[in-house]
Amino acid sequence: MDAKKVVINMFYPQNIKCVVCGKDLFEENRYSICSGCLLEANIRFCPKCGRAVGATTTYCYDCTNYGHSFTQARAPFIYEGSAKKLVYRLKYGGQLYLARTMAQYLADEYYKSKWYIDFVSFVPMHIKRFKKRGYNQAKIIAEELAKIIDKPLKETLTRIKYSTNFARLARKERFAEAEESFVAIEKYKNKSILLVDDVLTTGATTDGCTKALLKAGCGDVYVLTFCTSVCKPELY
Ligand SMILES: [Zn+2]
Ligand SMILES: [Zn+2]
Repeated sequence: MDAKKVVINMFYPQNIKCVVCGKDLFEENRYSICSGCLLEANIRFCPKCGRAVGATTTYCYDCTNYGHSFTQARAPFIYEGSAKKLVYRLKYGGQLYLARTMAQYLADEYYKSKWYIDFVSFVPMHIKRFKKRGYNQAKIIAEELAKIIDKPLKETLTRIKYSTNFARLARKERFAEAEESFVAIEKYKNKSILLVDDVLTTGATTDGCTKALLKAGCGDVYVLTFCTSVCKPELY
């Protein structure tokens, strides 16, 4: 997508039509989603990684057995149904105006948290992929979120490896591969960073980013994604 199209696709009649079903909205609605369109809310989640867990678990299988480098991660929705479709439309359909709706939900999560953060950042995209797609959806969501919560936005990381589908690898390889994929742009001594992405699946990508930021001196990395997966022990 070229730069001009990226700008045009940021605009959508906010507050006039539902971004899920396209029906007219008649009431003030900062998410631009009508009352008939329910997204898959992430209600029962792991206190560490924020992934959806079963009724009887507190910490998920992954956090119980392995853990993560980030301080805490949260996501308002499960990566299923309408919420998943919205991510696809943003990521592959170029419907960039959806970032504003997503950022509104992330702002709610941020306000619910007790996190102190210095600035907002995002999971970077490799330059090759960026050239193909024309935008980084994580950055666009992060920009909208930073505006809403009134925090600075900072580009903190570079993606140095053009990879891959981490989910295909075994856990150890997946996390090692992710760790080698990112480097910090500068030092962030004792900074507390809020890292934004569209989806958290295994947590390998956000962990790779976190490790690079911790190496650069950063104190805490908090993660917000629009969707998260259900933690499935068979993946580990
Ligand atoms: Zn709707
Ligand atoms: Zn967990």
